[in-house]
Amino acid sequence: MSKIYDEDNVFAKILRAEIPYEKVLENKYALAFNDINPQAPIHVLVIPKNPYTDLYNFIQNANLEEVKCFWELVNDVISKKGIEDMGFRIITNSGKDGNQDVPHFHAHVLGGKNLGRMIN
Ligand code: AMP
Repeated sequence: MSKIYDEDNVFAKILRAEIPYEKVLENKYALAFNDINPQAPIHVLVIPKNPYTDLYNFIQNANLEEVKCFWELVNDVISKKGIEDMGFRIITNSGKDGNQDVPHFHAHVLGGKNLGRMIN
């Protein structure tokens, strides 16, 4: 994944409120919204509000408060959706081999059914 952040990516547009989205939750440093093309009954995307291209870039550059806020929001989504006991899956794709489509770091929170084995 390129280290150069593309300001025109679709999640940057969501953060600038240029396109509509279904907000689930937010905190100081992160935003959670429904995936437009859900792959499970629950499919929420959690993104940092600051510009990072992928998980590697986020961990290299974000400060501890941002990292903490990000993962706290993932947990808050899990609580809000009531899937902490049933289980869930967190996926974050990166780069070409990870088939990342949107070059703004995001975690997919998937649940609401048995998700099967990890990789097909
Ligand atoms: P990835 O392949 O990990 O980059 O996943 C990108 C995800 O963003 C896909 O699951 C898309 O369905 C989702 N997505 C793309 N555009 C939007 C949008 N405007 N609102 C919500 N989710 C979107």
